[in-house]
Amino acid sequence: MVPDANIYLKSDQYRHLARRYAEVNDRVVLLSCRKEEHRKDMTEDSFYPIGVTGFVKEVNEEGYVEIRTTGRVNLDMIGMNPDHTIELTVSRCEEIEDLDEGVEQAHFEQLKADLKESWQGFEWGEQAMGYLNQFHSISEVAVAMSIWFKMSAEEKYEILAQDSHKKRLEMLEKAVYEFMEVSKVTTKAASAQQEEYQKIYKESAIKKQMELLQRELDEMHPEKVSDIRKFEIKIEEAGMNETAKGEALKVLNRLKQESNGGTEAGMLYDYLDFVTELSWKKEQAQDIDLSEAEAVLEEDHFGLKKVKQRIIQQIAVMNLKKQQSGSILLFVGAPGTGKTSIGQSIAKALHRKYVRVSLGGVRDEADIRGHRRTYIGAMPGRIMDGIKKSGVSNPVMVLDEVDKLGVSYNGDPASALLEVLDPEQNNTFTDHYMNVPYDLSDVMFICTANSVDTIPEPLLNRMEVIRFSGYTASDKFQIARRHLLPKSMKEMGVTEEQIVISDDIIRCIIDNYTMESGVRGLRKRLDTLCRSAAVEVSKRVGAAAVEALKQGSSAEAGSDAASDAPAVPKADPIVVKEEDLREMLDAKPVRHDRVLAEKKPGIVTGLAWTAAGGEILFIETLFTKGNGKFTVTGQLGDVMKESVQIAVSLVKSMFPDKASLFEENDLHIHVPEGAVPKDGPSAGITMTTALASLVSGKAVAPTIAMTGEVSLRGVVTPIGGLPEKLMAASRAGIQTVFIPMENEDDLDEVPQEVKDKLTIIAVSDVTEVLEKTGILDESEAAQE
Ligand code: ADP
Repeated sequence: MVPDANIYLKSDQYRHLARRYAEVNDRVVLLSCRKEEHRKDMTEDSFYPIGVTGFVKEVNEEGYVEIRTTGRVNLDMIGMNPDHTIELTVSRCEEIEDLDEGVEQAHFEQLKADLKESWQGFEWGEQAMGYLNQFHSISEVAVAMSIWFKMSAEEKYEILAQDSHKKRLEMLEKAVYEFMEVSKVTTKAASAQQEEYQKIYKESAIKKQMELLQRELDEMHPEKVSDIRKFEIKIEEAGMNETAKGEALKVLNRLKQESNGGTEAGMLYDYLDFVTELSWKKEQAQDIDLSEAEAVLEEDHFGLKKVKQRIIQQIAVMNLKKQQSGSILLFVGAPGTGKTSIGQSIAKALHRKYVRVSLGGVRDEADIRGHRRTYIGAMPGRIMDGIKKSGVSNPVMVLDEVDKLGVSYNGDPASALLEVLDPEQNNTFTDHYMNVPYDLSDVMFICTANSVDTIPEPLLNRMEVIRFSGYTASDKFQIARRHLLPKSMKEMGVTEEQIVISDDIIRCIIDNYTMESGVRGLRKRLDTLCRSAAVEVSKRVGAAAVEALKQGSSAEAGSDAASDAPAVPKADPIVVKEEDLREMLDAKPVRHDRVLAEKKPGIVTGLAWTAAGGEILFIETLFTKGNGKFTVTGQLGDVMKESVQIAVSLVKSMFPDKASLFEENDLHIHVPEGAVPKDGPSAGITMTTALASLVSGKAVAPTIAMTGEVSLRGVVTPIGGLPEKLMAASRAGIQTVFIPMENEDDLDEVPQEVKDKLTIIAVSDVTEVLEKTGILDESEAAQE
């Protein structure tokens, strides 16, 4: 707002302010408000003290009122009426007329020229220049453009308040030039931005085009797709998380630089190959039909009722919680009891992939967690390797032989395994080789072990132990009949029409050619049997074919002539007989230790836990002339030395009048070597009983066996592997077995068939054994 300019108001606005319709030549005073405010709230302080006067020059048809400003005025007095009209007195402002008209005109012309120049090239430029020609002064131009000025009301007022014409002109000029600069910069910025966008659009369009063309080329010449390109595609398609993708792209870049025969190229290649082959996709949890799962487990494995029951419970829980993994199961039992293969059946029941990772003999942490890539010959750990082999992110993973993990100076693999199995941590398991986290939380882990003794406590705590106590002879028979024999026959290519294996033959193999509590050995025997039979079958089939040819009836003689497969000529089946077994199996019958025929003081039968299950053992003791030395020989020599010392002390205290025998003689204790290496020194009560029998001269019936540790007070303490030991006892023809009282609960795990055959007596003190075997009679015991 300055003098000598045109100001436009809407007619309505004019009417609202002036409270009347506009008429040409109406005289007006225009004031600036300090802030926006409702009329009724205004006071005299609401206005700036200088305003402009003017008159209505035109009221046009389009609803505008044009006001021509003439001069500046001071606001002398202002009053607000109750009807919100305003009364004021004004006086003319002092003007400093320091501007030469010629100079003003020259400045105006220059400004116009500059404006025109800056508007060139814009579509609206032409029209704007037309308007410009209608203006007569810088004031007019500035007022017309003022709505775009980035100036505050205060700054604008300062121009009006300026008394000097010259200075006022300068200020107006400055405002216009500033505006011109700002708009130049923004236009520049806008067009620069536009260019940038265009570049991006163009680039992505070119890239897409290139990808399409490359793909077409790749399809036309798949053999020419370079490794780099292959990895590029694979990385894009693998569905990796951001970190993994970043790392893979980094390695790919290095491979690009190394690709001309750099030494690292092989390693980088292997890395990319590994990570892109891994499945990064999260698999959906599937609803599992429990009865179908039960059927699958039942179909694949005979017996193992409790094991299957526990597995079904686990599946049910996973189903309800919509989880793909649950508690970590640890299957413990002798080899060949079905631990690994039931893991496979679980995968089948869950419709998931199965992978087996063997941990036997693993001693380095790197075997579990991988080597760092800086290490020459670095490889991923076995866990990630297993995941890769499975091809999915949620396999059922059987970790075999966790009890055979070792520790070396290269770290502790058990603690690395702990991390793998910990549901809190395993969703970001970082293999050192991969160097990026991988989510293992959907993997269902199952561990197997022969014994829990060597599993570190923290690892054991994380798992739920399920025992596979081994099979009785009748279990083995059923397993052989239903599962093993059909598998062996199929594998060796013989059929039931070609070879007849009776139940008795199977039983004979079980009893005389195997001595394990699992069925792995049995499976091998059956394989050998079928293999030997296959030779004979081929010979007979060959002979039959020749015969058939001779008779001119060609090959169709044997089987279904309609089938596409060449018909096999029919020959007489081979009936396997007991007396052929030794030759067919190419093995001697195994010698099971069986109960001794005669009883003799100093010899007692014990029970041992062995790698193959259980076995019986004999402890033989003998006094020879001497002076109190003792010798232990046989397989368990070293392990048993302590037990012998305890047993000697106990027997001396129980038979004080016989104690001198130990001083006057040398004692020799021998444990004959059996067919199977025995483990575990749980022979305390056997040793004590043998010595008591020796000193008392009373023999113990050979059909009595015992197992249990003994303390110096004679208390019988618990032992492990009771089911296996009792199975061995029944197999060997034992009738009575003494077991520690504290092991009574373990009897639940012993098959009924075994319990039916044995008289099992639980004892808590060794004197009970001595009484019940007749070494110590009751009256003697009472005196003790
Ligand atoms: P483990 O892992 O306990 O050493 P495996 O699972 O390897 O034993 O079993 C050895 C073989 O015995 C496999 O061929 C398996 O199918 C068979 N097997 C074991 N237990 C049974 C069973 N209860 N029913 C059928 N087959 C069995």
